[in-house]
Amino acid sequence: MTNTDSYSAMLTAVQAFHDKHDFKNTGGEELAYRIALMTEELGEISACVTKGKDTASLAEECADLFILLLGTAIAADFPLDEAFWAKMKKLQQRESRMINGRIRVSEFRDM
Ligand SMILES: [Mg+2]
Repeated sequence: MTNTDSYSAMLTAVQAFHDKHDFKNTGGEELAYRIALMTEELGEISACVTKGKDTASLAEECADLFILLLGTAIAADFPLDEAFWAKMKKLQQRESRMINGRIRVSEFRDM
């Protein structure tokens, strides 16, 4: 049985989706196109908030973006899980500041 919590199971499912539609040979893995698709999904996430849609709609649009991110890792051939943990490690060491009433976690290099 598939462990639906695992990154490798998610990646395998997205790879199967790419293979089913032959994304590799039909432009579906071109990075500029993928960025446009991810931007489109980000806009749909935004619309969920600005149009007051329910949480289920927000979750579905976030899943769309997440699936595209996994597919971009396939297209550009990098291990997104390793990149995730490497970046989390950096973020965990960063400081936060309140800026205009909202918290920001950053390196604050030039502030
Ligand atoms: Mg969508």
